[in-house]
Amino acid sequence: MAEIKLENIFKTYEGGVRALGGVSLRVKEGEFLSLLGPSGCGKTTLLRVIAGLEKPDSGEVYIGGRLVNDTEPSKRGVALVFQSYGLYEHMSAFENIAFPLRARGLSKEEIDAAVRESAVLLEIEELLGRRAGELSGGQQQRVSMARALACRPSVLLMDEPLSNLDARLRTDMRLELLSLKKRLKAAVVYVTHDQDEAMALGDRIALMEGGTIKQEGSPAELYERPTDIFTAGFIGSPAMNLLEARLEREGEELFIVLGSARAALGSKRARELLEKGAPGEEIILGLRPERLRLLPPGSPDTLLAELEYAEMLGGETRLHLVSPLGRLIARVFSFEGCAGGHCGGLAPGALFGVDFEAGDAHLFSKETQKRL
Ligand code: ATP
Repeated sequence: MAEIKLENIFKTYEGGVRALGGVSLRVKEGEFLSLLGPSGCGKTTLLRVIAGLEKPDSGEVYIGGRLVNDTEPSKRGVALVFQSYGLYEHMSAFENIAFPLRARGLSKEEIDAAVRESAVLLEIEELLGRRAGELSGGQQQRVSMARALACRPSVLLMDEPLSNLDARLRTDMRLELLSLKKRLKAAVVYVTHDQDEAMALGDRIALMEGGTIKQEGSPAELYERPTDIFTAGFIGSPAMNLLEARLEREGEELFIVLGSARAALGSKRARELLEKGAPGEEIILGLRPERLRLLPPGSPDTLLAELEYAEMLGGETRLHLVSPLGRLIARVFSFEGCAGGHCGGLAPGALFGVDFEAGDAHLFSKETQKRL
């Protein structure tokens, strides 16, 4: 059993920086949790608390059901992989992987078997004889992971392990991690500030801000139902459009009013919001860039927006628009049906009528920042 359980962890560094403000978290055996958040939100500190490299001021850390607050890092069954590979460059890959095993006093046969097993897992058998300093960044990172896995950890903690690799290698290594993940039985916590990486790898994501977890759930849950404006703006690339809007009542119907654009919410949703007393409320409307519809300018019930510039990315085009209510980004995958062919001329200054479906709208209270 290798479950990690954290209960109400607080940590303030000397000098008064509060890095963790009451974090509770559970990672099951065989589960891969992406710990995501902006720089300085406390991700590394949390990882170090699990590893035992940092002592929490209060709160409990359990590994495999055992309270480990007072257990030495080396006795926690935890392996760490950092963004710097931490290899001894003059030693062979084999010797690097064997190093922590020797320190534990394993026999030559046991070391040999463990090194080969994790080398097979990371597909680096042919690199074992080479000096670490001669290997590429991606190869070094694989050796460093093999070294972590050779100790057969029940908990694997990774802190931005791919951030020193170039874009291409990062994508390759991400695929390898995905296939490795299926074969690992450990509970894995993977720290990253890259939301694409967190979404691609994580069975679940815990999104942190300012030392607390803002939302936790599957990547799809965080994308489709962000519980507040912070998560809405953080998950998704390009980020969700967030604009000031209003809810207006007409009889039993409720309309989202975004400047000159409006969309009826539908009776069920309207009833729910009416019960909460939402109409008349100033809201923040969240619309994913791929959910905006671009119609010819002047189309009824649309928001007039002007094209500032277009980014052609091959498979999609991102249109950066300016409206009286603020900036917007629209993702367009095909120009058919886009403003009746209006997107054909993507010169800055082109005008569009921006439309949206109420079903695609994420509504947040302006006051509390929470999802309505
Ligand atoms: P990044 O993504 O930039 O690595 P992070 O989310 O991992 O950031 P932490 O490294 O955990 O964040 O830092 C959380 C807060 O604690 C930051 O404000 C940081 O400046 C502070 N901090 C981290 N380590 C120490 C330390 N040893 N002493 C004092 N303050 C620290």
